[in-house]
Amino acid sequence: MSTKEKIKAYFQENENKIRDKIVSLVKEMVKEKTVNVVSEKLSEHPYLKVRGEEYRVANIVKREFENYGIPYNEFARMKERPNVIGKIGKDKNGKRLFMAAHMDIVPAGDGWDTDPFEVVEKDGKLYGRGTLDNKGPLASIIVAGEILKELGIELEGELQLAALSDEEAEDPDGIDYGIGYLLEEKLINPTFAIIPDIGENMERIDIAEKGRTVFKVTAHGKQAHGSTPEKGINAVYMMAKMVCEIEKLQFDYKVHPVLGHPTLNLGEIHGGAAPNIVPGQCEILLDIRTVPGMTKEQVVSKLEECAKKVEGGKFTIECMSWNEPHDVNPDNELVRAIQKNSKEVLGFEPEPFGMGGGTFAKTLNLHGVIAVGWGPGDDEAFHVANEYVEIKQLVDFALLTCLVSIDLLN
Ligand SMILES: [Zn+2]
Repeated sequence: MSTKEKIKAYFQENENKIRDKIVSLVKEMVKEKTVNVVSEKLSEHPYLKVRGEEYRVANIVKREFENYGIPYNEFARMKERPNVIGKIGKDKNGKRLFMAAHMDIVPAGDGWDTDPFEVVEKDGKLYGRGTLDNKGPLASIIVAGEILKELGIELEGELQLAALSDEEAEDPDGIDYGIGYLLEEKLINPTFAIIPDIGENMERIDIAEKGRTVFKVTAHGKQAHGSTPEKGINAVYMMAKMVCEIEKLQFDYKVHPVLGHPTLNLGEIHGGAAPNIVPGQCEILLDIRTVPGMTKEQVVSKLEECAKKVEGGKFTIECMSWNEPHDVNPDNELVRAIQKNSKEVLGFEPEPFGMGGGTFAKTLNLHGVIAVGWGPGDDEAFHVANEYVEIKQLVDFALLTCLVSIDLLN
């Protein structure tokens, strides 16, 4: 019997045991309120001393690794916010597959039918904050590791099972405790990565994400008394003309096969101080999502063109944040291994697609790792009341984690 056949047989014979193990881990992890919010909102969550407190879930992960003899590293920029990476295999052929789920969650919010931190099992689903995002998938990959260990499966490469901190909230201080920290400090060097944090019920593989950028445009007028508007230059009128130009703006780009077109959203406008003052300044904030090939210089020059069309206008354009779009060639080992094994287990081949939103996969890709988003769960169930995940999907995902690892690492 081949290694993969052995694993499939084990899953068939032990279905209930595997299911119960995953369910009990999810229940245990959901009880821990690892809520990650920006510092400013921390006081709304009095049970937290620091943001996230992911160490509460990390303790469960470490206990599991210890019980199964899985060696692990713990990397933490702050001890309450650790990252735990279990390692299976010999790391002999230079191939390392990083499977990473995050331990932090968004706040429960309103509208729940049950206690968000006490998992309720109903109709084959688990309800609770974090069951899908991302504690269910985390339990699933841990159990996959335990089964590989229990069956004594030898991997020539290394499977790295990672429980990470700090995914859900980006603090204005810019300090990262999760994937950013691990990459900045060169603490990990995977060849491939799978991030099970997109939903899509394993039916689609996130191979590309748009670049996320924010631009601030400021109109500079001249203040004057509201009774003598002719003595001033009204920055809001000036900006109004600019906004009309921005609405017509066309970027130069090539339509991307999965990402399609870039987008532009005018999300905020601020101007004026009082009715009796001619506003001297007006600002807008633009969220621009780019496709591969677009550069910061091109985007700035497009905005400058708009500004030039406003007669008598005086504008400054600032890039507040910029990250690059990325894409992975869909014809690569990682995508093929996922497709082939899914076909066998689930009966369909997940299709490559691209997103405007972002996951850890982007950060990894920009650091030279072939990383995709792929995982269990319904994409509508993220960050909402009555978040849920189907237990069967978690079990299937555990099996697929084992099979994909063998294909990629042996
Ligand atoms: Zn998530």
